Order: sequence, then C-alpha cells, then structure tokens
Amino acid sequence: MADVSRRSLLVGAAAVAGLATAGIIAGNVITRRAGADERGENWDVIVVGAGSAGIGAARRLVDQNPSLRVAIVEARDRIGGRMFTDRTSMGIPVERGCELVHGGPYADTYPWIKEAGFDMRMFAKNYIRLNDADDNAPSHAWHAPDAPASWAFPAGIPDGLVKFDLAGEGQPLPEALPREKADAYLARLGIAPDNIPSGLRYLLTDDAEPLYATDAAAVGEVLTACIRYSLHPEEAPEPEKLDADDPKRNDGDYKIIGGYDQLLTFIADDIPVFLDTVVEEVQHSKSGVELFTSQGTMSARRVIMAVPAGVMQRRDIDFSAGLPDRKWVAFDEFQYSHIFKCLLEFEGQVFTPDGSATWGYAESMDLTPTTLWNASIAQPEYGGQVVVGWETGEAARELHALPVEQKYEAVLDVVRKSAGDSGLQYKKALMTDWANEPFSWGAYGHGGNEKDMSAPTDDVLFWAGMRTSTVTASYVSGVDQADELLKHL
Ligand SMILES: Cc1cc2nc3c(=O)[nH]c(=O)nc-3n(C[C@H](O)[C@H](O)[C@H](O)COP(=O)(O)OP(=O)(O)OC[C@H]3O[C@@H](n4cnc5c(N)ncnc54)[C@H](O)[C@@H]3O)c2cc1C
Repeated sequence: MADVSRRSLLVGAAAVAGLATAGIIAGNVITRRAGADERGENWDVIVVGAGSAGIGAARRLVDQNPSLRVAIVEARDRIGGRMFTDRTSMGIPVERGCELVHGGPYADTYPWIKEAGFDMRMFAKNYIRLNDADDNAPSHAWHAPDAPASWAFPAGIPDGLVKFDLAGEGQPLPEALPREKADAYLARLGIAPDNIPSGLRYLLTDDAEPLYATDAAAVGEVLTACIRYSLHPEEAPEPEKLDADDPKRNDGDYKIIGGYDQLLTFIADDIPVFLDTVVEEVQHSKSGVELFTSQGTMSARRVIMAVPAGVMQRRDIDFSAGLPDRKWVAFDEFQYSHIFKCLLEFEGQVFTPDGSATWGYAESMDLTPTTLWNASIAQPEYGGQVVVGWETGEAARELHALPVEQKYEAVLDVVRKSAGDSGLQYKKALMTDWANEPFSWGAYGHGGNEKDMSAPTDDVLFWAGMRTSTVTASYVSGVDQADELLKHL
C-alpha cells in the first residue's frame, strides 16, 4: 500500500477493487488507511482530524520535509469531516455537507483540482423569481438576479415612492428607525410584501437573513435603485454574463463532478490515516504529546488539532495539562450559523428554469427554502435529477424545527412550485443535521478570537481549522499551521 501515491492514482476499476480493503476510496482516488500495528510508533507529528484543515496540514508537513513521520487520526470511519460525499444513497454521488468550490480557479485548493484533472463545473446560469407575483409580472418568470425584471415592483411602483426618485431630484428615503427590520420599513413606505422587487429581496437576503430579520438600514441603497430603474428602465445596468471560460468572470461557485471527497483523498494521498480513532484525552508537555484514543495510546513530538470549534465547546476532548483560559474563551465565543441543506432525488429532469440541464441556482425569493440548486449538473449519463434545497439564518432555524418528513415536504413544495407541477414526487430524500452530528456539532459559523484560537500551546500543540467556514479557508489554515509547526520542530 505504501506505494500508492498521487502519481499512481486515478487507477482503473480493477486495481481499485484490489486495493479496497486497505485504502480509503473516493471515486478512482485512494488514500492510505493505516494499520493497527503502526499505532505504537513514535510519530514526529500527529494531526487530529481528517477534514480539509487536517489533511491540508499533514500534506504540507510531508511536502516540506519528506523525512518527517506524519500520521492523521480520525474519529469517523471516513475522511473528509464536513466534506461528506454520499456515494450510495442516490443514483449519483451527492454531497451531504460542503458542495461548492467557491472561487473555482481562484481557490487555494485549485492547484490540486487541476493536478488531479477533476471535472469542475461552474454554476454559470443562475436565476431568481417571485413565485407569488402575478403570472404576467416580469419578476414571476425566472430571470438573472441583475436583469431589469429584478428592479421592478411586481404590481407596479407605488405612487408614494415616486417622490423618492433621487436622480429625479426627489427626496431622500426616510431614515430607518432604531432596531427597525426591513419588512417593517418597506411596509411603512407602503410597499406590500407581494410587491417587493425580486432583486431587492435577493440583494438584501442572499445567504443571510429573511427580511424580517434584516436591518432596515440596509434597504435604502437598493430601494433607491429599484425606484430609479422602475421609473427609468432605460438606465438599468446591463446584466452581467457569467462565462465559465472567461478568466475575468469565473470567480463564482463550482462543483467537482463525481464527488468533492476526491479532492481530500487526492491531497492525503499516501499519508497514513487511522480511522475510527476518537481522541479522548491530550496530554502535552514541552517534550511531546500523548494522545489517549478509543484505540489506545499514541505519541508524537508535536500535534496539530484540526477538530471543529464545536468539539472544543463541548469539551469532548480532555486537555489534561490544561490550556490557556483565553483559548477556551475564543472557542466558547464561536457561534454556529443556522444552515439547512436537503437533497431530493427525482426520476427524470423534473425541473429546469431555462429548459437546460446546466442551470445552477434557482431562487424563489418569496418561498422557503429560497434556494434550489442543481446537484446533478454535468451528469449526462444519469437519467434522474438531484435538487438541493438550501436556506440560512432564521428561516433555516425554523425549517430545522420541523419533523424530518415536513422538512422534505417543504423542499418538495418549492420544487413543485418552481417546476409548475403540483403532483411531483421525489424518489429519495436526504439530509444531515450537522448541528447534532457528533465530531461536528454544527455546519459553520463565525466569532471567537482567531488569534487566541490558533495560537500554539507550549510550542507542541498547534491549532488548525476550527472556526473556518469554507473548505479553502480550512485547507489554508492547515497549511499555515504546518508552516508554524516546522519553525518549532
Ligand atoms: C451543509 C454544509 C454545507 C457547506 N457548504 C460549503 C460549500 O459549499 N463550500 C465550502 O467551501 N464550504 C462549505 N461548508 C463548510 C465546510 O464544509 C467546512 O468549513 C470545512 O469542511 C471544515 O473543514 P475542517 O477540516 O476545518 O473541519 P471538519 O471537516 O469538520 O474536520 C474535522 C475532523 O475532525 C474529526 N474529529 C472531531 N473530533 C475528533 C476526535 N475527538 N478525535 C478524532 N477526530 C475528531 C472529525 O470527524 C472531522 O473529520 C459547508 C458545511 C456544511 C455542514
């Protein structure tokens, strides 16, 4: 197994079958699963956690110093952490956790994607609409988020708003009141909920909160544009064209076809990974670190902790030699966001906003969950369709409060309305409740002092990931912490 390396990867199916017992396989890519007999060895560095941060750290150490003895220990029976490609539940590999390479060719993980030659596709054709607007209103039809229809009031601009057309030498919009929310402010200006422009909803709530949880102060600038362009459509800016082949325009969201997990499997390559090994206690001194795990004791000169902040908040791991108070404060101040992600699989291509199989996002700005995306993009051999229902913030919290069947129904309802077919039925539904998932305890979030969280402890314990909220950010923090560790070896 030791000879399985990046250069011998992307092997044929027969070879993969032969390696299945010893390796960790994602598609045609293999990582080395360490044997029990190796646990007792004296490692130079052990990395705890085989997510993007941990694998990024371990890879950097080995690449910078190939003579170092580096291993990864992982509590789960798979690598990836919050990157979890499910290869068995649906007709194609689907992502229960992270899915998108934000920034595509600009992402720090891109050199690996390129080296491996993974098929990466951009979400270039994205649409929004207002489901409840009149059928004849331009914003009822799927349109680009920055198309002229986005600025339009579906039932026409209310008379009372004309005086706020600034370019027409009108009055400035009224100030928002203290603690006023966007929905209340819009109502105060005489804009009914079903007459809010799609683009206003999109710009104010994209990947954030619904209007009832958005500060009213954020409304002014966008509303001014809606008023101006409703009265003078000829002045509205030209919609941008996203072109996956245009290097200036390709900083959007991309998907690795065939499974995101191939990326970490490729990066981990022949670094030994001990799976099913839960670290329960860490005992460090200036001379080294002992890890007490569910599979016995392991020791190393240095350890990189690359577990999520939630694991630290729950005190799942006992640091018997103690940690500085400010590190605990930083962990405890971290807050997870509400993230709702649910996958529905259908027989056939049941929904395409533009009649093509290559659409990316389709967002109904007045439905919950707002966002659908095309999880079966670029799968010409696959006869079905996998649609993701996605929501964040307060609306996600409300969705999560529902029993699981009702969560699926909520997404199905949006797909039905989006497709204009009230009889649609899904074949399979799937979701992971990351907030209640051991070894994660949340999807991603914000807060907690970054410096305190990542500061090395006694030059033997190093800290990667934890508070990072994208694959790339976790990977980069792993690389950075590996570099930091190399200075202290
Ligand atoms: C639903 C969802 C959607 C997302 N979408 C995106 C997206 O589209 N794009 C994007 O870039 N990011 C996305 N993210 C965020 C992204 O997945 C994470 O930021 C990233 O994967 C975190 O990597 P990490 O290595 O820091 O942590 P993790 O991936 O959580 O890895 C930590 C590892 O530590 C292990 N561990 C924990 N406790 C122990 C222990 N006691 N002993 C041993 N091992 C332990 C865990 O099992 C895990 O493997 C999403 C996340 C979720 C949940």
